[in-house]
Amino acid sequence: MSQNVLLFIGAPGAGKGTLAQRCCTELGYEQVSTGNICREHIARGTDIGKAIDLALKSGKLVDDSLITAMVTQWFEQNQHKQQVILDGYPRTAIQAEAFDQFIHQKRTEQPHIVRLIIGEQEVVNRLSMRLICSKGVCQAVYSLATGGKQPKQQGLCDACSSPLIRRPDDEIEAIKKRLKLYATHEAMLLDCYKRLGYPMISVDAALPMSDVFAELKTKLETGI
Ligand code: AMP
Repeated sequence: MSQNVLLFIGAPGAGKGTLAQRCCTELGYEQVSTGNICREHIARGTDIGKAIDLALKSGKLVDDSLITAMVTQWFEQNQHKQQVILDGYPRTAIQAEAFDQFIHQKRTEQPHIVRLIIGEQEVVNRLSMRLICSKGVCQAVYSLATGGKQPKQQGLCDACSSPLIRRPDDEIEAIKKRLKLYATHEAMLLDCYKRLGYPMISVDAALPMSDVFAELKTKLETGI
């Protein structure tokens, strides 16, 4: 069966996860977040979790083939899902090439790229105010910033009442490292998508999330 796949690309903190969730609840997409899969492995203490724990804490990237295996396994197990958003994958040109090969073997439709554009200072502000649910299968995201999604009860998740935590990689040193890493890979990734001929939609991710979502929805509907 042919699947409609969107690949979200944007700096850490650009809002990829939050935007993907809006697309899930309002447009019927399924979100696959490689960051969430990694954190779930760590929370469950699996062998993979133990192997990648340090990389995540220090803001480094996980091995390309390991991440690609997580994603392709998800697709193998979810072939009936028609609309899929990959949030945080591919992150390197090697991953993009590997995923392109996989998708060509399995499906006919070319993925579309959704690029979230945002300035570095805004990202630092957002990430230093972000909290996530500590429960591996939940990982709901909150923000202590004015106008952000605040928990109803301080320090507890609205969905499952588990304690909220700061992600270890949202500490300032790790944020800086992740942004630098992102900038290194972004240009190569965009070149790769251009070469592969994937259509691209850009959205202004510095706007409030409802505006970002409205912009994306319009562009998806009109094929801009
Ligand atoms: P995220 O939740 O997308 O910010 O990802 C958190 C962390 O998970 C990253 O800093 C990496 O350590 C790891 N990770 C997630 N996706 C990838 C990927 N596509 N390639 C390599 N590492 C990844």
